[in-house]
Amino acid sequence: MEIRSTAGKRPEREGERLKQKALKIAMISIHSDPLGELGTRDTGGMSVYVREIGRRLAEMGNSVDIFTRVDRLEGVGTIRPFENFRIIHLPAGPAQPLPQLILFRYLAEFFRNLDLLKQREGTGYDVVHTHYWLSGQIGRWTRKRWQVPHVFMFHTLGALKNRVFGSEQEPDLRIRVENRLTAECDLISAGTTRDKEQIIEHYGAASERIQVVPCGVDLECFRPSARSHSRTRLGLTRGERVVLYVGRFDPIKGVDRLLRAAAGLRREFPLQVLLVGGGEPASSDTRMLRNLCVELSLQDCVTFAGRKTHADLPDYYRAADVLVLPSYYESFGLVVLEALACGTPVVAAPVGVVPDLVRSGVNGWVVADNTPEHLADGVRRVLHMRNERRWPIETIRQAAANYDWSHVAASIEVQYRGLLSKKAALCHAAPESHLSRCGQQLYLNCR
Ligand code: UDP
Repeated sequence: MEIRSTAGKRPEREGERLKQKALKIAMISIHSDPLGELGTRDTGGMSVYVREIGRRLAEMGNSVDIFTRVDRLEGVGTIRPFENFRIIHLPAGPAQPLPQLILFRYLAEFFRNLDLLKQREGTGYDVVHTHYWLSGQIGRWTRKRWQVPHVFMFHTLGALKNRVFGSEQEPDLRIRVENRLTAECDLISAGTTRDKEQIIEHYGAASERIQVVPCGVDLECFRPSARSHSRTRLGLTRGERVVLYVGRFDPIKGVDRLLRAAAGLRREFPLQVLLVGGGEPASSDTRMLRNLCVELSLQDCVTFAGRKTHADLPDYYRAADVLVLPSYYESFGLVVLEALACGTPVVAAPVGVVPDLVRSGVNGWVVADNTPEHLADGVRRVLHMRNERRWPIETIRQAAANYDWSHVAASIEVQYRGLLSKKAALCHAAPESHLSRCGQQLYLNCR
């Protein structure tokens, strides 16, 4: 995945900010490489988040190291997109993708390599920011060993996945680790207020330990442009009604439900459904969806477009009449922001950021749930708009206007600095030797 620099587009009040000391930030994303190919089973919104936040924080003058695992033989090592920004692949277990429960066994090895590297380089970090429960577990160890504040982001909640989507249960181990993380990390970063409420409900987190900072979008890359040009580039005809899905093909995404909705809608409209993302053609998720297309006789109106880069995706959003997010559960849903930023309406159930961004009859339709009937109803309403007056593209884009990644990174930096001032106040109150003894003991206890 390419990392483009947006240096030069500095956030506001930069002068004020530069007076503060630059931070040394360690981010950990062990199971999902920020440079990995987007749309595969383990590489989606979280990778985009880590990559974008890391890059913007570094462009703001901080020093950022993102640590991930060597899961392949090529394109790994230390990658330095620019001076103070590194993506470091550390070995832990075999250099291949691993199921999460197997990967769990290699977390200690990853941590040892991380700690050794830190010792060798003689670096210290001001803050460790971890993503997803597997990395969170490593964050618990770094916090104790290095005495640094630990910011944790769930990305998805195991307990909630189990509740809304019974057929693929998350392991008890994950729930136990998430409970511990909730109790022990210094700050939980949540993407929406709904995410925050769900963390409180499912893990009993104290409200004041959770701060909401939404995810973002690259407003330069995802912007409106002539729909007809995008359609021509993608080989679509003018008359077709294009329904788009972008994302991983994980069952929780409900792509099968979108296909079932399409089976009814194709009798009403000259329909073309574009599915962007997904694993290899032989993967079980992709095969299941292809078989469903055959079962529903949708082969002629569904295109498996494969995975696309962010450079290519705007054409897909612009060409579409509507983006459908058929998920059972989303912690955020970056594709909603990307579609709206391109001026494309969205249909979805009230999952993730949808209730905050999508207004029925203004920039899409929020349906009661992701049943095929409700999804079809929402899509129908949007597609009918085509015959009347379309919603103005600028109105649709407006919903995404405040979500540029640079604003998000600036808010994350404020979170870090808030924690550091708290830590400074604590250190002032307790002698350092005492803190360090406590830290050593806690570290030993948790191993
Ligand atoms: N994505 C992509 N190419 C693809 C499929 C997905 O770049 O072929 C990106 C998409 O643009 C978005 C991310 O993957 O930035 C998916 O994030 P989202 O929050 O919607 O879903 P998640 O993967 O977190 O469940």
